[in-house]
Amino acid sequence: MTNLPHTFSSNLGAALSSDNDTAKMEAIDNAPLARYTTLRIGGNADRLYQPESVEELATLIKKLSSEGAPWYVIGGGSNLLISSEGVRGNVIRTTGLTGIKILAPGLLYAEAGARLPHLAKHAAQQGLAGLEFAVGIPGTVGGAVIMNAGAHGSSISAILETAQILDTQTGIISEQSNQDLAFQYRRCALDPARHVVLSAVFRLPQDKPEDIEARTKHNEEYRLKTQPIGFPNAGSTFKNPLPDKSAGFLLDQAGVKDMKVGSAAVSTLHANFVVNLGNATSKDVTALLKQMQQTVAEKFNIDLTPEWKTMGTFSEEELAIWRKKK
Ligand SMILES: Cc1cc2nc3c(=O)[nH]c(=O)nc-3n(C[C@H](O)[C@H](O)[C@H](O)COP(=O)(O)OP(=O)(O)OC[C@H]3O[C@@H](n4cnc5c(N)ncnc54)[C@H](O)[C@@H]3O)c2cc1C
Repeated sequence: MTNLPHTFSSNLGAALSSDNDTAKMEAIDNAPLARYTTLRIGGNADRLYQPESVEELATLIKKLSSEGAPWYVIGGGSNLLISSEGVRGNVIRTTGLTGIKILAPGLLYAEAGARLPHLAKHAAQQGLAGLEFAVGIPGTVGGAVIMNAGAHGSSISAILETAQILDTQTGIISEQSNQDLAFQYRRCALDPARHVVLSAVFRLPQDKPEDIEARTKHNEEYRLKTQPIGFPNAGSTFKNPLPDKSAGFLLDQAGVKDMKVGSAAVSTLHANFVVNLGNATSKDVTALLKQMQQTVAEKFNIDLTPEWKTMGTFSEEELAIWRKKK
């Protein structure tokens, strides 16, 4: 971990020493969160903030942390199950932080709220390769770093150079290297309850735009054939238990495709996708996840762990679904 270059840290330091940014930013009280998640599930947040710059985001979270006020960050809400009972405290949505720029040949900077499909298309236009895998992942840079999002044989860990991280326990903003972040399958060393991704820099090799475009198109077409469209979902529900054992295959073989609880159902196209047929609640979803998990455990003696993160109020019984691990 290295501290920020002097100019950058001192600029940000000036911004952080003032309350002006948070004063400008309006909080929305009792904000319904379902509209901000791809599953379209989630009750109200006590307060929702939508900062529009890295400085606003950092200042706000530093302030909330120093006051001991609870806060939670969401990006695209595309890997999240938010409780239908809502979230007590402050939810901060980063999607206003959309800045992208080329820092030097092959180095692409993006703010935390930049969407991966947009970033991938931008990189492709500049003849920068490596983000083709991300074109169909509807998350933000911040969420993708936390999750080490990946597909088509690549992942964030393969292209990330550095990320700018706010550690809310120490109040320090630092630039962390790929190695510092200790990426693993769908995880890294950061804890979203403590660390906030402010921005990231990706190292991308130059390639012919038409070749990048061809790979991007291939990935898009593959997704259209293999993943459900039309009903809200949050991508893969469970992590692959082993590199050579996909959760989708195990779930399919275990026969979960006809399972449904309330308005939450397993996709008939892809057994590792749960879809919201209309008015699904978080309780419908957790009951379905439990059934899917139990069915695979009974048939294969393998405990699946959900890939999604949770936010808000859940019972101990519901949270136990996330604790099963092998
Ligand atoms: C149709 C579909 C297809 C998908 N395909 C893939 C795929 O192929 N591969 C894959 O890996 N994923 C896939 N996903 C899941 C999801 O898009 C990724 O995990 C994505 O990286 C999540 O980003 P997000 O911004 O939506 O994060 P969110 O869902 O908003 O948040 C996820 C977690 O990250 C935290 N977080 C978000 N932003 C920040 C930040 N700035 N700082 C700190 N913490 C933060 C949140 O608190 C939460 O814990 C898919 C989802 C959908 C709906």
